[in-house]
Amino acid sequence: MATKSLKARHNALVTDNKQLEILESGIFENGELPYFKDKIAQIGQFPLRPKKLEILQINVGYMCNQVCEHCHVDAGPDRKEIMTRETMEQCLEVIRNTGAHTLDLTGGALEMNPNFRWFVEEAARAGVQDFIVRSNLTIIRANKKYYDLPEFFKKYNIHVISSMPHYTRGKTDKQRGEGVFDKSIKALQELNAVGYGMPDSSLRLDLVYNPSGAFLPGDQSALERDFKKALMEDFEIQFHNLFAITNLPIARFLDYLMASGNYEDYMYSLVEAYNPSAVENVMCTNTISVSWDGWLYDCDFNQMLGLKVASKIKHIKDYNEEVLTDRNIIVSQHCFGCTAGAGSSCQGSVT
Ligand code: SF4
Ligand code: SF4
Repeated sequence: MATKSLKARHNALVTDNKQLEILESGIFENGELPYFKDKIAQIGQFPLRPKKLEILQINVGYMCNQVCEHCHVDAGPDRKEIMTRETMEQCLEVIRNTGAHTLDLTGGALEMNPNFRWFVEEAARAGVQDFIVRSNLTIIRANKKYYDLPEFFKKYNIHVISSMPHYTRGKTDKQRGEGVFDKSIKALQELNAVGYGMPDSSLRLDLVYNPSGAFLPGDQSALERDFKKALMEDFEIQFHNLFAITNLPIARFLDYLMASGNYEDYMYSLVEAYNPSAVENVMCTNTISVSWDGWLYDCDFNQMLGLKVASKIKHIKDYNEEVLTDRNIIVSQHCFGCTAGAGSSCQGSVT
């Protein structure tokens, strides 16, 4: 398993944005498979347009204590891009004035940003209704200074969404690194201990499953049942919901697909599983994604492809909701990952 990000390895996929070139050429360019824009044009959804902005998703940095095999952020300990307090101040200004009711913080391991706790406190003061933190769990056990995170999350009534690729040690460690499973279990038990994930608790704890190879996730409710049963029987762990998400063919997952010779087959699977009814609720229709340096994107995936919003407002410091909502969402073939099967977003199935 790699211990460095693609960026640190000077992998061509990220150094000269080869990813988009791959997604736009080959089996799509020669007509074997349809372009995403043509598929959604058939149902009158091209150009794809945003609806009402509901979620502000802020990526506070690409630094992470892990180097997971399929990371779409290409995060890792060698990534030094983290949001400054100045950019956080600009985000807070928007949080105070926007109509969005949900603040969704993501990374990297966002807790590694030295201003993370300050930002949470200030955002809570600004009156966010639903406050999501996407935690990788192991950070809670990575260093003593993070041990009190469950209490900190509780204090601000944060909705914790955590990656947990599988309820078995082997599958989890294969995708996320040796020892990740045991640390994740310990972190989940600690979240449970302060009240997270309990059946009647308002302290929401949800898990995210993503497949460990070049295949699509199974049925979300069946997976949730399996996870609940196994984690309860083996470790007495409880959680609320499981979100099953599809791996999008970008960053390290794209690198994995290319290196393993699975790219074309995987794109065939995504296109074959295309579900027109999932298009209406893809994440980009109600979310704006902000990068560590304040640029605006249609979603976290477009952020990683360097596709800034197609609007004259491109940076959080110039934020104007009305102008931003009047834009076309930038799509490419990675978007088939959001419309495969039951559909997939950062919140799991969308249909
Ligand atoms: S998938 Fe999450 S935990 Fe893993 S390297 Fe990426 S950001 Fe870090
Ligand atoms: S990848 Fe992003 S832009 Fe494409 S459909 Fe999904 S959320 Fe929308």
